[in-house]
Amino acid sequence: MTNKLFIYNTLSRQKEEFIPLHENFVGMYVCGPTVYSDVHLGNCRTFISFDLIYRYLLHLGFKVRYVRNITDAGHLEGDRDEGDDKFAKKAKLEQLEPMEIVQKYSLGFHDVMRAFNTMSPSIEPTATGHICEQIEMIKVILTNGYAYEVNGTVYFDVEKYNKEYPYGQLTNRQLDDLLANTRELDGQDEKHGPLDFALWINAKAEHLMKWPSPWGWGFPGWHIECSAMSSKYLGDTFDIHGGGMDLQATHHTNEIAQSQACNHKAPVKYWMHTNMLTVNGVRMSKSAGNGFLPGELFTGNHRLLDKGYSPMCVRFFMMQTHYRSTLDFSNEALQASEKGYRKLMTAMELLDKLKASSTTTSDIITLKNNCYEAMNDDFNTAVLVAQLFEGVRIINSVNAGSETITASDLDTLKKLFNDFVIDVMGLMPEASAGNGIADGLMDLVLSIRTESKTKKDFATSDKIRDSLKQLKIAVKDEKDGTVNWTYEG
Ligand code: AMP
Ligand code: ZN
Repeated sequence: MTNKLFIYNTLSRQKEEFIPLHENFVGMYVCGPTVYSDVHLGNCRTFISFDLIYRYLLHLGFKVRYVRNITDAGHLEGDRDEGDDKFAKKAKLEQLEPMEIVQKYSLGFHDVMRAFNTMSPSIEPTATGHICEQIEMIKVILTNGYAYEVNGTVYFDVEKYNKEYPYGQLTNRQLDDLLANTRELDGQDEKHGPLDFALWINAKAEHLMKWPSPWGWGFPGWHIECSAMSSKYLGDTFDIHGGGMDLQATHHTNEIAQSQACNHKAPVKYWMHTNMLTVNGVRMSKSAGNGFLPGELFTGNHRLLDKGYSPMCVRFFMMQTHYRSTLDFSNEALQASEKGYRKLMTAMELLDKLKASSTTTSDIITLKNNCYEAMNDDFNTAVLVAQLFEGVRIINSVNAGSETITASDLDTLKKLFNDFVIDVMGLMPEASAGNGIADGLMDLVLSIRTESKTKKDFATSDKIRDSLKQLKIAVKDEKDGTVNWTYEG
């Protein structure tokens, strides 16, 4: 067994041994959501993957400062430097204050994260709460000569920067290559070079979210917030920076450039990127219109869904695939995960009741080593899950009497399941999974509801539905007359 943790570093394109900058401490920054609409399941995959990484680092005994920001300003339509602010546009559409939009979707995001049993980050800074830090950083970049101002907008000078630092290093691209794939500038452009990007954007009079700056009223560009907030809370160089793969080419490339231009230091030791959640091979995204909302998945209320799936079943579905592989969404895959998850939970219940013998016929130590080996190999949960199912096989065999286990091995096995299933993978038993009492009670309540509907006693059936809703239990009437329920707490 290897005791060393290896992490795939996007920057070097290989797995590297993880050696933190400060012994026993880890600083980790993950790009959080842009809170102008509900998070879809693809976003959740990225956050759940980093929750797993956070949990495993904690399990290994590291003291982790995990920073995940909330983007509540500066992210423009189409991720470019022109167009409407995403928040302002939504605010106009919904006739709300931009900060009402931010509040509404931040709360929604936290509810979803709680349903998936993700741990809260140590710090969750917002872009609007760090305008001063962003302005200060832009001032230094200007002083260092890597930016220029045009009509109240400050641009980062990519070609100048590239003379000293390799701008495209994160995606292994040369500048000429990148320039060849960029739209030519025309006479209307303020920018000096086609790859230049805005650090600060001049606000038009009608713009809703704006702040005073040395360059007039404006708002920060999208990339600067992450550079400013990560260096504030984790230092000019820190251990791990993460996000979805789609952020590599622009957002993270620009973050590196800004931080280098400001501090003359590489900001991050290990860059980690999660692969995409896809639907029929197409990346799930807000713009593609194929984004499931977690609530739709829990209730089954979506045209692509045969039924609802509980948050823990969905979390388990995600754990079955390594974070760097694409994960394709389908009803069949989720149904298989539901079976797998229940099998795992049933085995855990059984584990508590197993009787020890004087001998062990199974090799529990090898099983334990294999679990650590899987996780030390770049957090490979796909292999970990396969190993845990070997554990499930042992549990079932011991229960059936075809294998035996000593008291000390039984303790090891219990701790192993508790450590990896509950603490590391963040799974937990649910009301709807394998809990006989809850299932029985729900059957009873739902049969009373069906009866009252048949008798046209809608007062009773509505009362049942509303009370269940308050308990965060969603009820769905299927076309074939069956009634399904899911716990969304
Ligand atoms: P956004 O709210 O669009 O800024 O995205 C928040 C996070 O979700 C970023 O780290 C994205 O890279 C990630 N993300 C967006 N779409 C997907 C997807 N389909 N699968 C996995 N992660 C995604
Ligand atoms: Zn970011």
